[in-house]
Amino acid sequence: MSYRGKYIPDKSDFYQLSRSKVDYFLNCPRCFYLDRRLGVGQPPGFPFNLNSAVDNLLKNEFDYYRNIKEPHPYIKRLGLNAIPFQHENLDKWRNNFSGVVYQHEKLKLHLFGAVDDIWINLDSNELIVVDYKSTSKNSEINLDADWQIGYKRQMEFYQYLLRNNGFKVSNIGYFVYCNGMKNKERFDEKLDFEISLLDYTGDDSWIEKTLSDLIDLLKQESVPKHTENCDYCKYQLKTIPYS
Ligand code: SF4
Repeated sequence: MSYRGKYIPDKSDFYQLSRSKVDYFLNCPRCFYLDRRLGVGQPPGFPFNLNSAVDNLLKNEFDYYRNIKEPHPYIKRLGLNAIPFQHENLDKWRNNFSGVVYQHEKLKLHLFGAVDDIWINLDSNELIVVDYKSTSKNSEINLDADWQIGYKRQMEFYQYLLRNNGFKVSNIGYFVYCNGMKNKERFDEKLDFEISLLDYTGDDSWIEKTLSDLIDLLKQESVPKHTENCDYCKYQLKTIPYS
């Protein structure tokens, strides 16, 4: 049995926690506590429908190569002896509401996260985690910006989930980064993309300690302090209340 929503400290069932909520905890323990313990989350953002469209098209394309058990041209471009991985649970693993699940017995956590894709290295039999990203910018595509730590943690979390499902998983994962070209003379109902294939060597050693800290926080009765330099909190602190 597992449950979602607000965390209840004395409940013995597994508590459902997504990969993105773990990231939320790392970004600000206070906001995480307000959300997961007290049930007051930040207002939801808007859906990124164009990004989802790109993800879907990539998924369809990789599925074609999965079905014929051949490497996608991007895999060939990387020089890997790999193909898209076929597994009976793949659709579940790619679904945002189910994802790859690992039930952490000691912490009573039902951890989950939805992968974009998985390849398999045919030389080592290791799974390779793949994440699709889309953007539109003129500067170089890389993973160097501070905010992209979230992308790296995301990759590491999927590697951790798959390892705890008994799979051999490569530390090296790939980002298929699609950059929409915005400097064309005409639109012509078409958006062209340049594709960058970025490798990233993950290290999931931070995850166990983070999960244990996160549970300690959820069990405590007091709300933690806010994080310095958060625009939301600055806005709230500086806003004059209505009279
Ligand atoms: S600093 Fe305040 S608003 Fe910002 S994330 Fe934390 S609790 Fe939320």
